[in-house]
Amino acid sequence: VSIPDTVLDAIKAAVGPAGWSDDPDILAPRLREERGLFVGATPLLVRPATTDEVAAVVRVCAEARVPIVPQSGNTGLVGGAVPDESGDQILLALDRMNRVRALDRADHTMTVEAGCVLADIHARAAEAGLMFPLRLASEGSCRIGGNIASNAGGNAVLRYGTMRNLVLGIEAVLADGSMWNGLRALHKDNSGYDLKQLLIGSEGTLGIVTAAVLKLFPAPRNRQTAFVALADIEAAIALFVRARAASSDLVSAFELVPRIGIEFVTRHAANARDPFKIAYDDYALIEFTAARSDEGELRSAMERLLAEALADGSILDAVLAESDAQADALWLLREELSPAQKREGACIKHDVSVPVSRIPEFIRAASDAVLAEMPDIRILAFGHVGDGNVHFNLSQPVGADSAAFLDQWAHFNRVVHDIAVAMDGSISAEHGIGRLKRDELAHYRPAVEIDLMRAIKRALDPDGILNPGKVI
Ligand SMILES: Cc1cc2nc3c(=O)[nH]c(=O)nc-3n(C[C@H](O)[C@H](O)[C@H](O)COP(=O)(O)OP(=O)(O)OC[C@H]3O[C@@H](n4cnc5c(N)ncnc54)[C@H](O)[C@@H]3O)c2cc1C
Repeated sequence: VSIPDTVLDAIKAAVGPAGWSDDPDILAPRLREERGLFVGATPLLVRPATTDEVAAVVRVCAEARVPIVPQSGNTGLVGGAVPDESGDQILLALDRMNRVRALDRADHTMTVEAGCVLADIHARAAEAGLMFPLRLASEGSCRIGGNIASNAGGNAVLRYGTMRNLVLGIEAVLADGSMWNGLRALHKDNSGYDLKQLLIGSEGTLGIVTAAVLKLFPAPRNRQTAFVALADIEAAIALFVRARAASSDLVSAFELVPRIGIEFVTRHAANARDPFKIAYDDYALIEFTAARSDEGELRSAMERLLAEALADGSILDAVLAESDAQADALWLLREELSPAQKREGACIKHDVSVPVSRIPEFIRAASDAVLAEMPDIRILAFGHVGDGNVHFNLSQPVGADSAAFLDQWAHFNRVVHDIAVAMDGSISAEHGIGRLKRDELAHYRPAVEIDLMRAIKRALDPDGILNPGKVI
């Protein structure tokens, strides 16, 4: 059933002429999901400028039972932010709601609208001598509403947590068009159920986030960044444990990079250089940060850690950045992994987590299983070891047919996810479920959990108009 013109006209009237578009050229990039796995259709893009306008749009849609797909930066990796192919869903973008409403230095909080770009939030916090710690490679285009709705993680989770730990309050429009103002800046609040946590990570299926109170931290003035060659992946875990103790728990990143990653990045990223003269199998990028500006103590802690690890053989080589430019060059080796892998042909991705201590066991078991099926597949297992999250990505064999390789997506998912779940892990550590992993969620989560999720969905969105077909 297509959406009646009377409904489309009522939605347009709710936002005024600057707040909507049906121009195919404007719609096209917003209908294509980041990796091109899904391309949807819609008769209308609506771009409200205020929370009241969001509420007015949702009221019209609720009355007419028209499905709404919320979208922020459209950088999500599970097909959550694009409508399906039916043409019966409207696309609601938050990008015009991009004001910082308040910044409070004493509370260490910033109140922002959902459409603020993450990098702009970083800049605004920095102007105040503070920091918002969510760091993603997509930070130049993802928006905070999308970060909240997908409970984004990133590089600093081991120190600051995911968005669940970084949001104090939320304002949202609910499925019937009513507005919930939960913009409380409280660090402690045990008055009933924590409703904001229902919306964080709900991927647009329970409400439309319009604003939030974010936690800020003192800006780091001192960072020590090292890149080390590991004896093996088992050594990474022991080194991580030692790094936490050696730095008085000031580790802000601990990222695993395998040899093939260095090969991909140095092949495709213009300024990337292998920091070592010889090739090693596995590497880690380690960063300590502190708010105090005096360098000495933190640097000595890193130097001691590296010297002891070199002496006992758990690392084989190390470089410690002497400047911000050198630290950035080391980070490039990590940040460019995904773009470089894209240029190596088709890629089947897994975003799994297991307990930190089981990461080596997971990587070895999953690698063996995958190689047994396709001996020349190229495994790039990298990522946020410090929080148990591995991006276990599979590049097609050199010269293989890309489409035929991608046809194996579901099969390899099953192989890898079975191993992660058997280790008490998760099939989605940080990218969410969206449309891509909906069936996988139903397959792996116990029926009691799926039933609870469905009950929550029914309670908050009884007519199923908010992002249908996603998550559950
Ligand atoms: C290069 C690259 C690197 C990445 N690295 C990371 C990483 O390290 N960690 C990580 O967690 N993710 C990462 N991602 C994934 C993605 O950037 C994050 O999930 C990000 O938080 C999505 O934000 P967005 O604004 O683009 O949201 P979108 O893609 O627009 O939306 C994501 C989901 O949220 C819903 N949604 C959007 N806005 C709202 C709203 N206001 N209210 C309710 N629902 C809403 C959408 O319907 C969709 O389901 C990466 C992506 C890329 C391309």
